Amino acid sequence: APEGRPRRKQVLLAAPRGYCAGVDRAVETVEKALEHYGAPVYVRKEIVHNKHVVEVLSRRGAVFVDETDEVPEGSRLVFSAHGVSPAVREAAAARSLQTLDATCPLVTKVHREAVRFARDGYSILLVGHEGHEEVEGTAGEAPDHVTLVDGPDSVDAVEVPDPSKVVWLSQTTLSVDETMDTVRRLREKFPQLADPPSDDICYATQNRQVAVKKVAARAELVIVVGSANSSNSVRLVEVALQNGATSSYRVDSAAELRDEWFDGVDVVGVTSGASVPEILVDDVLASLAERGYGEPEEVRTATEDLVFSLPRELRTNLGLTP
Ligand code: SF4
Repeated sequence: APEGRPRRKQVLLAAPRGYCAGVDRAVETVEKALEHYGAPVYVRKEIVHNKHVVEVLSRRGAVFVDETDEVPEGSRLVFSAHGVSPAVREAAAARSLQTLDATCPLVTKVHREAVRFARDGYSILLVGHEGHEEVEGTAGEAPDHVTLVDGPDSVDAVEVPDPSKVVWLSQTTLSVDETMDTVRRLREKFPQLADPPSDDICYATQNRQVAVKKVAARAELVIVVGSANSSNSVRLVEVALQNGATSSYRVDSAAELRDEWFDGVDVVGVTSGASVPEILVDDVLASLAERGYGEPEEVRTATEDLVFSLPRELRTNLGLTP
């Protein structure tokens, strides 16, 4: 602040932030399964990439496993929001597991695109992060046709059998700007590159990035609430830094905030990833209030009203109309 003028310590709260429709549905699937069938309910991988959510559900009787072979035969198993490959479905069927599929419908949409393009003889360049569960599931739909492209620097190494039959698809939670950069480079290399029929980066990822950009243009520091393995949360830090914030940090909770981050900072932006319950944001806001920052000003760039219905198997068992 200019000398002599009192400092005005402000908080800008990005909107949309936090839970998307796919996360909401996945978490509710496990909650409802616990209520209806009783514990234990097994869940393959983290239902959504958030530490707090996984801890709360574990306490209520959800058992998180890495693979289907850890689940006792005949038990109930939920597939996480990130989706699974056909090989995982087969492994679950072979153990007679009763599965509930909490795969986000927007991930399933990308799976369908992969199946269709593979059937039509395309090489599929899947833009995404190596090792991410969603990418493993999507690639598993057509392993012989999919090549992973992990960012613009991986483009040089990409080879395909027929450069006239090539399409790109993507993980749903990438940085929009970086993905466009990757696709531009892919197109330089493969001028006949076909586009996906619709956006693979989902509405929630896009909306949270647009909102954090607007916040970052005014804030010196941007705090992103989200877990380290949450792709869309980690992207929010990158997007904030590329769009005007001097510093940006990801925290799992208010306990991770460090005093030195706030030295001389008048305007703090706050947002959260798509897997983050609002209570964790409330705690961060309370901590900012204790540090002398004023009432948060909401910076809204979109309104979301998408809701996905629960998995069909669950709706049927709960006696809900299909
Ligand atoms: Fe679905 Fe997007 Fe949410 Fe992932 S971030 S669960 S793709 S809505």
